[in-house]
Amino acid sequence: MSGVYVHLPFCPYLCPYCDFAKWPLRASAANEYLEALYAEIDGESTFPARTVYLGGGTPNAYERRRLVELLARLRARFPGASEVSIEVNPELVCDGDFAAYRAAGVTRLSIGVQSFEPSEIQTLGRKHSVEQVGGVVAQARDAAIDSISLDLIFAIPGQTAASWSRTLEAAIALDVDHCSAYGLTVEAGTPYEAWRAREPAAFFDDAREAELYGMAIETLRAAGYEQYEISNFARPGHRCAHNLNYWANGEYVGLGVGAASYRDGVRSVHTRSLEEYLAAAREGRPIPSEAERLEGRKRAGEAVMLALRTAQGVGLSEFKERYGIDLLKDYAPVVTRFAQTGLLERIGDTVRLTRRGIFLANDVCGAFVTFE
Ligand code: SF4
Repeated sequence: MSGVYVHLPFCPYLCPYCDFAKWPLRASAANEYLEALYAEIDGESTFPARTVYLGGGTPNAYERRRLVELLARLRARFPGASEVSIEVNPELVCDGDFAAYRAAGVTRLSIGVQSFEPSEIQTLGRKHSVEQVGGVVAQARDAAIDSISLDLIFAIPGQTAASWSRTLEAAIALDVDHCSAYGLTVEAGTPYEAWRAREPAAFFDDAREAELYGMAIETLRAAGYEQYEISNFARPGHRCAHNLNYWANGEYVGLGVGAASYRDGVRSVHTRSLEEYLAAAREGRPIPSEAERLEGRKRAGEAVMLALRTAQGVGLSEFKERYGIDLLKDYAPVVTRFAQTGLLERIGDTVRLTRRGIFLANDVCGAFVTFE
């Protein structure tokens, strides 16, 4: 498996919790960016991509015809891609958009809903209405998009167990194919960080956040969604192949400002400076990037970290074959510690997080990455 990620960094407004590479939408900059992106796409060496993912930013901040043009360019460059995903902001969707995306090859939509509670949507700085989301899902279904996913956030200041339950039930009532549920992270340098410094009590502590996460797991599982990764839940046949490739430590190419790639054992990240990106792409120079070769223990530790995020965990024989490492032997102290504390379990040829371990995934995964 291998994937292509395309970053479209413009947004109609900037949300106060976000630390992605993004800029407020300006038509001239957005057009200039597409030209630079085309230059990068055309200069990219052949890559047998099975998935393409348009993320952001807000991809549908671009008008429909520009996105269709971009999708055609990507399809010509990566003709083997069978899953093509696009993130959309519900408030920007116009009649006919999804039919046009579908005709241009899109198979999967990820809709940035975050919450079905108007006050929480407002707290997050988003501007769509709850009614808009229902309309957008209906349009996606009419356009015969194969998989419809909603992005949800928990641990929003002011959120309660009751309001999170209403959001989960509203998502389920729309009968979508896939839900992603992420705990809110307060990122350095964002307005949310300043808010938390002023008013720490407004934010969730770990125990309260874990309570809402547990609710997501129970509610979505009971509604027929399989938790196939820590934050991702899918009806059968609707797992996101693009993200599965990341967790399988597969290769991918990132195109656009701030985009990350993993190829030939090297992980690299493009500059997050829009000016630098535009200048390099325009002049046909390599995009300034930071790169790191992942080898030996480092490569194996990262692979364990990614695999443990998934429901199936680490396949021991496959892992040994691919990385030359016997997980049970070479990482014995880490495996034993977390097995004894009930966070990891061995089932046949796999090692995976237990139900309790899922709640402490960062601690467990981090220990494999830092183990020397
Ligand atoms: S959260 Fe999404 S829409 Fe909001 S600023 Fe970040 S990238 Fe843009």
